[in-house]
Amino acid sequence: MKIFDTHAHYDDDRFDEDREELLIKLKKNGVQHFVNVASSVESIDSTLKLVTEHPESYAALGIHPSDIKGINEKIMEYIKEKILSFDRCVAVGEIGLDYYWGEEAERADQKKWFIRQLELAREVKLPVIIHSRDAAEDTFNIMKDNHAEEIGGVVHCFSYSKEMAKEYVKMGFFIGIGGVVTFKNAKKVVEVVKEIPLESIVLETDCPYLTPSPYRGERNSSVYLPYVAEKIAEIKGISADEVYDVTYKNALKLYRLKEDA
Ligand SMILES: [Zn+2]
Repeated sequence: MKIFDTHAHYDDDRFDEDREELLIKLKKNGVQHFVNVASSVESIDSTLKLVTEHPESYAALGIHPSDIKGINEKIMEYIKEKILSFDRCVAVGEIGLDYYWGEEAERADQKKWFIRQLELAREVKLPVIIHSRDAAEDTFNIMKDNHAEEIGGVVHCFSYSKEMAKEYVKMGFFIGIGGVVTFKNAKKVVEVVKEIPLESIVLETDCPYLTPSPYRGERNSSVYLPYVAEKIAEIKGISADEVYDVTYKNALKLYRLKEDA
């Protein structure tokens, strides 16, 4: 069994006390690779530090819509420079729109930096990791208008309708499925998993957040991904092995990585 966690935040301070032990445990549990996703300027530096020290991991660099306060062109240049000088940077992210946390007055700025970072991904020729919450229509319109189908990537922690999921699949995007699919109230995500091909699904934790049940509420880590894989297998009426196998290959394809030896 090989697992690829396509979205993790192991630089988060909730991992400070046992990070090294935990990352060793991941390998023993079949987690071959993870992508550590930055969200703020500070987490760009901590992500690069962590990924440098862990050759099995990869970095994604970008500014989350909830962290765009104070962002400017200088910072965009800084990110670009880091991406181009670090060979295990595989994506621009996480970027997008978050109308759940964001104030209404901030929305224009969120859109501006979302579009700017789509452009950055185009410049550095990397896929994007999209974060979108309570902003289905604006996210989709911006991606359409900016020809995101030419950029490629993943819509992480997908929370919208199955119709929307199918539109993203049509654009060639992957759909990130994590702990939410195991929650009792996960009807929408279950429908999404049912409707889209397994070839478009990647596994993710978003750890330390969104721990699958029965551990919901605790700190998440890639060690819990089998709960997600088994739920997907159950929904699709296939074996968990098939889910591991196909989603692993999907992750390599998403981040344009070569198959492991
Ligand atoms: Zn995240």
